[in-house]
Amino acid sequence: MPTKYIVVLGSMMSGLGKGVVTSSLLTMLDFYDYKALPIKFDGYLNYDCGTMNPYRHGEVFVLDDKSEVDMDFGIYERFSNRDLTGDLSITGGKLFGSVISKERKGEYLGEDVQIIPHLTNEAISMIEKVEKSRRPDVIVIEVGGTVGDIENSYFIEAVRQLALKHPTTFINLTYAPALEVVGEQKTKPAQVGYRLLLQAGIRPDFVICRSREKLNEKARAKLALFANISEDKVIDDSDAQTIYQLPLHFMEQGFDRKLLKALELKGGLNRKKLASWRSSVDRIVHPKHSIQVGIVGKYTDLKDSYASVKEALVHAGAYNDTEVNIQWIESTELENGDALTHLKSIDAILVPGGFGNRGIEGMINGIRYARENKKPYLGLCLGMQLMTVEYARNVAGLENANSTEFNRNAKYKVIHLLPSQRGVDKKGGTMRLGLWKCRLSKGSMSRRLYGRDIIGERHRHRYEFNNKYKGILAKSGLVIGGTTLDGKLVEFVEWKDQFGVSTQSHPELKSRLASPSPLFVGFVKAAVENKS
Ligand code: GLN
Repeated sequence: MPTKYIVVLGSMMSGLGKGVVTSSLLTMLDFYDYKALPIKFDGYLNYDCGTMNPYRHGEVFVLDDKSEVDMDFGIYERFSNRDLTGDLSITGGKLFGSVISKERKGEYLGEDVQIIPHLTNEAISMIEKVEKSRRPDVIVIEVGGTVGDIENSYFIEAVRQLALKHPTTFINLTYAPALEVVGEQKTKPAQVGYRLLLQAGIRPDFVICRSREKLNEKARAKLALFANISEDKVIDDSDAQTIYQLPLHFMEQGFDRKLLKALELKGGLNRKKLASWRSSVDRIVHPKHSIQVGIVGKYTDLKDSYASVKEALVHAGAYNDTEVNIQWIESTELENGDALTHLKSIDAILVPGGFGNRGIEGMINGIRYARENKKPYLGLCLGMQLMTVEYARNVAGLENANSTEFNRNAKYKVIHLLPSQRGVDKKGGTMRLGLWKCRLSKGSMSRRLYGRDIIGERHRHRYEFNNKYKGILAKSGLVIGGTTLDGKLVEFVEWKDQFGVSTQSHPELKSRLASPSPLFVGFVKAAVENKS
């Protein structure tokens, strides 16, 4: 069977949730046991997301294979429960880079190299390579940006041409704003969006419409008329209580059957998968318990920079039938002792990953507060390094211990640069990245939570636990919860008699609704218990 293609294009404006729509298509196809893979096109000229500022662009997502990709890949994985790979991310940077390097090699000898056909052909061949190497049933291509942007115009031309060779279904995501006073849903901006799409030579097979309230019939009729489609091909995507409802909401409208028909696929529904998704969603919408988790970080203004942490808490909450309310605590506010009163009403504390000096002492104060007041603590990457620093300073008596990232001249350098990082001066793709295996120590809390001794989690860091201090820290009670298989790098650190666990890795990157991260599950459970 040839691979079928779906292309998702957004019009009118960004921020409509194209990633969630694309992911919901993946989930629906998975309910029918189809192997569906996403491909994301991003128009920026960066090769990948590794050098972007999370404060501006949102979280940098890391895959098993070390790729640093757009945060949409996080949504794809959380919805499809599939480990994805870097070749599914096509950026402007990769396309231009590849064409220019071919030109230098002489592969286009004699030609003048152009956007069409050279760049567009390059895009098509990157897409076809995924089809050939992975043989998925369906490839869902999300085109980043909005129709009408210069940045994605050549890519839209590429998918137009792709559809000449491969069975392709086009989906336009649009928006029907309602004016405050009259409350009427307006379709004129969506119509302008269609026009741009038609100008590009693409006619949508389905229109998905975002709106605050459910799409009304009048608006639906207009959206159908101007897109040249029947009304049943206009799909409602009005505000939901949780993004994980969207695949179910689509199916209530029969979108699964309609889409399969358009793709000429005849699969049967896997009722078990559907039921388990539905029950997770039920527990998110009607939870039994409720807790307050304080996240002490420095990008708390832009929640997108911690998207995976946020979602991992939703998954662990669903598992524990618990609503997890997040209190975002700007770490600089914890720098003087008084600020610690901020933490009183909180059931558990989490310090996520991060880089750079600002707010570090506030995070350390937060961790100390958790330890001294027996609040459950979860540390992720930087959160593990600082748990080590806090313990060294306040329990092991290593005064002013620090990470060399924050004080090169600290007397006790309990966290220092990874040996493999010494002498590295290039910034792109040079950190310790991707999936690394770890052996969890016998009797450790981490091993109990994972229920296994060998695990794999994703990484993105330059600094590590300094083994020189392993002995003295362990002697004063810090538990080494796990190391790399060769025993050389400490990967998990724990407190002994209370819930405090942290890891050099980013377990949030592997947490999915259908398989939540064991560390987060344990953390939320501990918080519920601590509260009662
Ligand atoms: N800044 C720390 C390091 O580079 C932690 C990185 C992180 O939290 N991702 O090791």
